[in-house]
Amino acid sequence: MDPIRLLRELVALPSVNPAFLPAGDPLGGEERVGAWLAALADRWGLGVERQSVLPGRDNFWVRLEPSGRRRQRVILAPHLDTVAASPEQFRPVRRKGRLHGRGACDTKGSVAAMFSALGEVARRGRRPASTEVLFTALVDEEHAQSGSRALAAARLKADLAIVGEPTRLQVITAHKGDVWLQLETRGKAAHGARPELGRNAVLEMARVVEAIETEYAAMLRPQTHPLLGRATVNVGSIAGGTQPNIVPDRCQITVDRRTLPGESVASVVREVRALLRLHGLRATVADHKGAPCWPLETDPDLPFVRRFMDCVGQRQPRGVQFFCDASVLGHGGIPSVVFGPGDIAQAHTADEWVGLREVEQAAAILTRFLRSLP
Ligand SMILES: [Zn+2]
Repeated sequence: MDPIRLLRELVALPSVNPAFLPAGDPLGGEERVGAWLAALADRWGLGVERQSVLPGRDNFWVRLEPSGRRRQRVILAPHLDTVAASPEQFRPVRRKGRLHGRGACDTKGSVAAMFSALGEVARRGRRPASTEVLFTALVDEEHAQSGSRALAAARLKADLAIVGEPTRLQVITAHKGDVWLQLETRGKAAHGARPELGRNAVLEMARVVEAIETEYAAMLRPQTHPLLGRATVNVGSIAGGTQPNIVPDRCQITVDRRTLPGESVASVVREVRALLRLHGLRATVADHKGAPCWPLETDPDLPFVRRFMDCVGQRQPRGVQFFCDASVLGHGGIPSVVFGPGDIAQAHTADEWVGLREVEQAAAILTRFLRSLP
């Protein structure tokens, strides 16, 4: 199936992550897109399963069984949800070799390329002899990755998962993890006319922010990863106090810390607590993410990773800064890489687009890869 036609259909079907919409908004949820793909797979004679993830939000699995006994498994794992959009972004527009619309780049271009490659192999030519190809259309990547977490929890054995994200057709074997912290300082409220009777929680937090943005950031600088560069830290929000004439008794900040392989929520919390101790600062430090976002680091010398890199014509592994489903699957024991058409620079923008040639190339590469499987 022509991946461009498929992509147009996918962009025209809204699948905004409900986390970014008011409750019950009709544009929300992945069901429309998942069911549409499932109907198509059914027409191709492929087995379709649903994996229930959240109320009304299922992962769709489409299975291409091998012609003989299954010995290996490859998973194609793009996500179906998008960030919020203006109404015109659901009308796909083709202009100057690009397709514009919400999700065109992140990540319906990958969905279209992967699904059309699956269709090519299912409908034309030989199936792999002993490798099962499992296409999993995942929900909720843009918010809490509930879809990939459910897939990982299913404990499927697989030799490779290719996670669809815009990577400009590069095979990505590493990305950073993401830790969010919430810090809180406590003071003592007092009348604004007698500040000496209180203890200002905002002032204490100002010192904490200063220590994080200068000293902690400097501490992180020497740690580098060959594919990912440096770990980083950013104080992202602050809230404290209620009105000018009260000494504030509470202040909170949230901190975003992008981690390298080997780092964890616990190790980051330890570092921040040690920094505060060093400066005699008093603040509580807590995990603010809910679900862990680990770094990804996949061995590029694993046989199926190598095979895929060879198909793409790439010799060296590469890394990206953004977090995605690959780390969740990788953490679940499935060697995972990220691959897809488009550039992350266009993802989530007001004029999201993807280059049509790249979508076609992605589909061709994936078809070649699936056909090469044992
Ligand atoms: Zn994405």
